Amino acid sequence: MLPKTALIYSHSFDQFSYGESHPFKVQRFRLAYELLAAYGLDRLPQATVCEATAVAEEELLTFHDRRYLDRMKEFSSSPVPRADFLYGLGDIENPVFPGFYDWACLGTGGTVEAARLVADEGYAAAFNLAGGYHHAHSARASGFSYLNDAVIAINALLAKGKRVVYLDLDAHHGDGVQEAYYESDQVLVISLHQSGIYFFPGTGFDNETGAGKGYGYTVNVPLLAHSDDPLYMKAFDEVVYPLIAAFDPDILVTQLGADTFRTDPLTNLEITTHSYTYILRKLQALKIPWVAMGGGGYDLMNTARAWTIAWGVMNGVSLSAKLPDRFVAHISSLGYPHRMLVDAMHWADDEERNLALDAVERSIAAIRKNIFPVLIG
Ligand SMILES: [Zn+2]
Repeated sequence: MLPKTALIYSHSFDQFSYGESHPFKVQRFRLAYELLAAYGLDRLPQATVCEATAVAEEELLTFHDRRYLDRMKEFSSSPVPRADFLYGLGDIENPVFPGFYDWACLGTGGTVEAARLVADEGYAAAFNLAGGYHHAHSARASGFSYLNDAVIAINALLAKGKRVVYLDLDAHHGDGVQEAYYESDQVLVISLHQSGIYFFPGTGFDNETGAGKGYGYTVNVPLLAHSDDPLYMKAFDEVVYPLIAAFDPDILVTQLGADTFRTDPLTNLEITTHSYTYILRKLQALKIPWVAMGGGGYDLMNTARAWTIAWGVMNGVSLSAKLPDRFVAHISSLGYPHRMLVDAMHWADDEERNLALDAVERSIAAIRKNIFPVLIG
């Protein structure tokens, strides 16, 4: 019998709006669901599609500050626009829109349910498309994130005595998750991302390695702009994979942002579905119970393609490289010219990739020097 899997979804995921001009488009969830359904991935015999429900407030309090939550609730139901910059609420990045607290609770509830299914119900993998809000802090919204669903779900796993690897593939550093577990040796936090030198959130350097008993349990692989598929796979193979294998977690939690892809309008990496798929297949082969979340991605077809690929990998299904005809017809009417699910492997231009290669080799060397002795010996 095939291992059980769950896709967490809600038709309410796209019933909210950050605003017309905001880069975070809620339509991404529907588009991703439509694509995976066009491949028949909503009807797999081993898979269940589960309706997301809002997280309970007591779960949020394992990480978030009560005053922050109260402020969110107050603003969420306010008939007039409100802002409180102390809490990062109401600025361009994190707008206050009607129901934004309910929106955030729904996405977080999806990730918490994914974690419960994997930890308690024997699911091999559970994937919440509307998760991965890794920038939310305990008492501050940041980077389009209001509630840190990753931390809330990991806290629930820790309460059950589970040891967790959190792997963050988003183009941005997973700063909120790093902060939560910086002094813990129960969660190995690994983030591959565009370097924070001139890039949001400005953290995630390779000398951020954890503190106290958490020393060695925070791993950052910053990538220069123009890092491409071969560099991404190199970083994964040379440090990320051996560290996950050495830590040997009970549960793997991944943030699967697709804003690393080369056509993303907010970032400068040059990654494609090629290395993204490579990494997911290697993770799948580890056979560690897997909780997955979506994440960033501001080119909507990239999020749809990435998450369809990811869900296919979790179910051991190989997908035709050509997008299904009826999906192509559908997206053509929306103005998307795409025909292919997958991209060819991509190399950046020599000059830029040589700089990026030097930088990633320095980071790999630093991680081997500082982290490997703790985890691998
Ligand atoms: Zn991102």
